[in-house]
Amino acid sequence: MNQMMTGTVDVTVDLPKQVDPEVAADIVKESVFVSPHLERITVSDDCKTAVLHIRDAEHTDEIVDKAHRYLSVMAKQRTGFDIKTYSENEREDDGPYQNGVNEEFIKRGWVYDYGKGQIAYNGPVLKVARLVNEIAGKLYEEHFDAVDGQFPGFIDADVLHKCGYFDSHPNQATFVGNVLEDFDALEDFRVANSCSEGAILPPSEHIHHDGMCLNPAACFPAYPTLEGKTFDDAGFVVSWLGRVFRYESRNASGLDRLYEFNVREIVFVGSDEFVAQKRLQAIPLVTGLAKTFDLDMKVETATDPFFATVSASKKFFQAAQEVKNEILIPVLDKDGHKKTMACGSVNMHGRFFGEKFNITASTGEPASTGCIGLGIERWVLAAFTQHGFDPMRWPEAVRDRVFG
Ligand SMILES: [Zn+2]
Repeated sequence: MNQMMTGTVDVTVDLPKQVDPEVAADIVKESVFVSPHLERITVSDDCKTAVLHIRDAEHTDEIVDKAHRYLSVMAKQRTGFDIKTYSENEREDDGPYQNGVNEEFIKRGWVYDYGKGQIAYNGPVLKVARLVNEIAGKLYEEHFDAVDGQFPGFIDADVLHKCGYFDSHPNQATFVGNVLEDFDALEDFRVANSCSEGAILPPSEHIHHDGMCLNPAACFPAYPTLEGKTFDDAGFVVSWLGRVFRYESRNASGLDRLYEFNVREIVFVGSDEFVAQKRLQAIPLVTGLAKTFDLDMKVETATDPFFATVSASKKFFQAAQEVKNEILIPVLDKDGHKKTMACGSVNMHGRFFGEKFNITASTGEPASTGCIGLGIERWVLAAFTQHGFDPMRWPEAVRDRVFG
């Protein structure tokens, strides 16, 4: 018998090929989903090798095998697309970007971090969050006559399946569980917790999943409500503040990567031309929002990564079709270097949802849809990063509403 190996161990492996820095960053980020026994994968500066930081040496062989399969998929990601810039804003504030904004929020008592990608907030953080939501909502109402909506935070797994979510982001889904409708299971659970120090969760065989998930993309709950409907030439536009949940595992951190966050969403439904035209009208409005908060920002072709096996084709499809634009706002990373953060996206779905949910355009054909989501907490982080904590550096138009 071999001597049992325990503890952590680092294993260096060759990547299937040298990758772009962008792909290397994706490999590092998504590596938290490779195995519970793997802390993380890092990539060498020359992007030719990777180091597997294994938590539990006992599982080395299994992890090396899994990591090879993961790396071969990730290394196939297509990059080097022609990235187009559709719109841009340059800030007027010439002060430096503020470092350590997340930490400063906590120090000032404006943010409470629960530690698992959830936060509570108040004061100027809440004021900026409300302002971003309110200004965007008003713009959408004025320019698109958008219906003001409200949708639930839970979503049926069948709807997510129909929306293709499990295909593209299986790692970010969250299932809601209940204690089995069984007297003994309920009694076990009650008794176990009646005098315990911390919560004692029911054993997995006593947890019942009835197919509810936490909603991971703001617009999904809108589509079942449109099922079977036909829209005339005027199309249909609805906007709301949605609560969104994306499981981030150990990547959750600060206001930039939350498990639970808020999104100002707008959905366009109608003919292909109607949706294409709304997208063109909407991009300057989003740029206007950045101007109101005096933020550097760009709207560009998106090439955001999808997890694992579908990543290569999806990424290619997105860029080739110009179906997704990202709203990119520069912030600082932990070392104080500038990086861009996606603060939202402009998505053209084609007839995908129209076909899936039997929604019809005035032409009698399946309706096209498009959506724009603005990640509220990321806008807040971006605004404080670009203007800091001195009110005088904030644009006059919002200064009193934020600090007053
Ligand atoms: Zn959407």
